[in-house]
Amino acid sequence: MADVIEQKPPSIVKEGKVSIYQPEQEGLIFPEMPEFASAAAHRQHLKERLVGACRAFALQGFDYGFAGHLTVRDPEDPGLYWTNPMAIHFAQVKVSNLICADHKGNVVEGKHAINRAGFVLHAAVHELHQDIVAMCHAHTVHGTAFASLGKPLQPISQDAAAFFEDHVVIGDEAGKVAVEVKGGNKVAHAFKGVKAAIHQNHGLLTASRHSIDSAAFWFIALERCCQQQLMIEATDATPRLVPEDRARYSREHVGSDYIGWLHFQTIWNDLLATQHDMFD
Ligand SMILES: [Zn+2]
Repeated sequence: MADVIEQKPPSIVKEGKVSIYQPEQEGLIFPEMPEFASAAAHRQHLKERLVGACRAFALQGFDYGFAGHLTVRDPEDPGLYWTNPMAIHFAQVKVSNLICADHKGNVVEGKHAINRAGFVLHAAVHELHQDIVAMCHAHTVHGTAFASLGKPLQPISQDAAAFFEDHVVIGDEAGKVAVEVKGGNKVAHAFKGVKAAIHQNHGLLTASRHSIDSAAFWFIALERCCQQQLMIEATDATPRLVPEDRARYSREHVGSDYIGWLHFQTIWNDLLATQHDMFD
């Protein structure tokens, strides 16, 4: 078979824009990235979006007892992380019960305890990758089932192509409950340059260098991709895959942190209309 020289696809990102989805016309309603006058205002925003991510996870059915944790790095002190409280259902997370913890898992603000085992995993990723600002993890039905196969997702669709060569499968210490304490550093190293991980016999993880909005949306998307691939594998049919060059092209343009953020604004606006106690 002849060598194929990979050609870099022409960029469809227009000058001054971060996405082809940004409208050409001025004055139309379109989600805007917020700017903040102070660290306090930025922190309040991050806390509200962290609550929104938890509520979105509840609506998706991602809860499993006290398992599952979402973190966002503090805008002023990068060694501190905001996270959901231990043993509070995702649907009951609100601004007032969030907790802030240091790298060792000591709660420095908030009344609730922390899921220490889970937090160690997040802290290890945040510590090793200073650019990662947010992370999500939960024990979901389809993600955990797919994780037992110990293999990556295939580019079965444009949506799945968003994860093409942008996720890893972690087999180290798979299925050991204590993995989140002992294996934190292994998971952290696996997150180099990717936005998602499938931890064998455990579940899914996503990380964002942009926002909790993006980490949350890509988690929802990853769970959905796992569900779709499982549905296909339950049949005798062989899927036609997106060719590698097209999968890379799609990932470049619909798989970015910004696109994840943009997708989440749809969810956020629905939450604002339906969840009236998020800011309590
Ligand atoms: Zn876990």
